[in-house]
Amino acid sequence: MMIALEHVALTYQSPDGEIEALRDVSFEMEEGEFVSIVGPSGCGKSTLLSLISGLEPPTGGQILVDGKPVTAPSGRVGLMPQRDQLFEWRTIWDNVTLGLELQKERDPKQYERVRELLEQYGLGAFTEKRPSQLSGGMRQRCALIRTMATQPRILLLDEPFSALDYQTRLSVSADIHAIIRQEHKTALLVTHDISEAISLSDRVVVLSHRPAVVKSIHDLGVLRDLRPMARRDAPSFRTYFNSIWKELDVNA
Ligand code: ADP
Ligand code: MG
Repeated sequence: MMIALEHVALTYQSPDGEIEALRDVSFEMEEGEFVSIVGPSGCGKSTLLSLISGLEPPTGGQILVDGKPVTAPSGRVGLMPQRDQLFEWRTIWDNVTLGLELQKERDPKQYERVRELLEQYGLGAFTEKRPSQLSGGMRQRCALIRTMATQPRILLLDEPFSALDYQTRLSVSADIHAIIRQEHKTALLVTHDISEAISLSDRVVVLSHRPAVVKSIHDLGVLRDLRPMARRDAPSFRTYFNSIWKELDVNA
C-alpha cells in the first residue's frame, strides 16, 4: 500500500480551547490511484492533506507512506493549495521553477522536465508572462506544473478548481486528470463538488461533519475506465451521485 491512514486524529489547541478536527480517519491508497475526498465545509479536509504532506503530526493514529510513518515534509509528496498562489512579481517560468530553486541541489534534468511540461500543456509561449496575463485555466495548469516540478510521486490537491467558473472547471479538471494519469501520479483530491469527485477519481471517500470520521468509501467501478466528460453521461453516474449526496447530509 502506498499510503495508509490508520485511525488518524487531529485536535487543534487554540486560545479558546481545543478544536477536534479529525476523530478517526482510515483509508488506504495504492500507487497510481486517484482518490477524492468529499465532506462538509470545515470538517477537516485541508487539515488531513497537511498531515499527509508532513506539515504537522497527527495527535492520534498514524500515516504511512511506503510503509513508513510520515514525520516531516518530503519530496515524495507535493501539495497543490486551494488558491494557485502564483506570485505576480515573478514570470511564469520563475513561478513554476520556484520549488526547484528552493532545493539544495539544482538538477538540470528537472528544469528540462518543467520546460517539457510547459510545452506539452500549452504554456510554452507564456513563460515570460506574468500570472495576471493568463486565463484561470492556464494558471491552474501552472500551479500543477509547479507542484510536479520537484517530481513528487504523490499529489495532494486542495479544491484546486473552486475558483474557476463552471465551464472552465469542466475542461481544466479534465486536463489535469489527463496530466496526472499520463505522469502516473498517485493523487488525492479534496473537493466539495460531488460530480467532480465522480468524474475524476477511482474511489470517493465521504467524510462526516467535524470531527471527521469516514462515512463511506465508494469504488467507482466501470466508470474508472471512462474519461471525465464521458463519465458524466454514463448511467451509473447519477446512482453514485445520489448515494454520495445522501451521505453528505448537506441539509444537516
Ligand atoms: P475543511 O478544509 O474541510 O474546510 P479545515 O481542515 O480547514 O476544514 O478545518 C477543520 C476545522 O479545524 C475547522 O473548524 C477549522 O476552523 C479548524 N482549524 C483549521 N486550522 C486550524 C488551526 N491552525 N488552529 C485551530 N483550528 C483550526
Ligand atoms: Mg479546506
